Amino acid sequence: MNYGEIKKYDIANGEGVRVSMFVSGCTHHCEGCFNQETWDFGYGTPYTAETEAEILQALSPDYIKGLSLLGGEPFERPNQRELLPLLKKVKDTYPHKDVWCYTGYLFDKELCQDSRARCEYTDEMLQYIDVLVDGEFVESLKDISLAFRGSSNQRIIDVKSSLQIGEVQLWEKLNKA
Ligand code: SF4
Repeated sequence: MNYGEIKKYDIANGEGVRVSMFVSGCTHHCEGCFNQETWDFGYGTPYTAETEAEILQALSPDYIKGLSLLGGEPFERPNQRELLPLLKKVKDTYPHKDVWCYTGYLFDKELCQDSRARCEYTDEMLQYIDVLVDGEFVESLKDISLAFRGSSNQRIIDVKSSLQIGEVQLWEKLNKA
């Protein structure tokens, strides 16, 4: 897996001050995508053990609320394989920090059901994610007033509640964001 960028003080992609990693590779090819260079799985820098250590270190200050994964597409199958061990370590090391993940795939229809994204890593990866921003970017629904997402079709989902109840639960702070 490659990544395009790691932000260590990101306030735009999730609640609070966050560490964000933009992974490379995306097969959605949404019209109007703001990040087209990241469609290429070979874009950017190889993700290594040093990258993982750098992320864990960046998460250590108390004021860092958690980790955000963006892309590209974190849920492309090759990226899931690489991200799963990172998420395990983040949750082991910092059980009180949260994980947000942005995906063009739909939580209920694609990540929880057969699709080109779903694979042997998907269920476990979802266990480590607190908040999922799902759905492709739709240019005709673009709204710059929306918090944490680009177009109004995208949902901010409370993953733990959704998995527990068996239906999509939106993040409870959404209306206050
Ligand atoms: S899912 Fe995100 S990175 Fe991929 S094409 Fe759509 S907007 Fe771009």
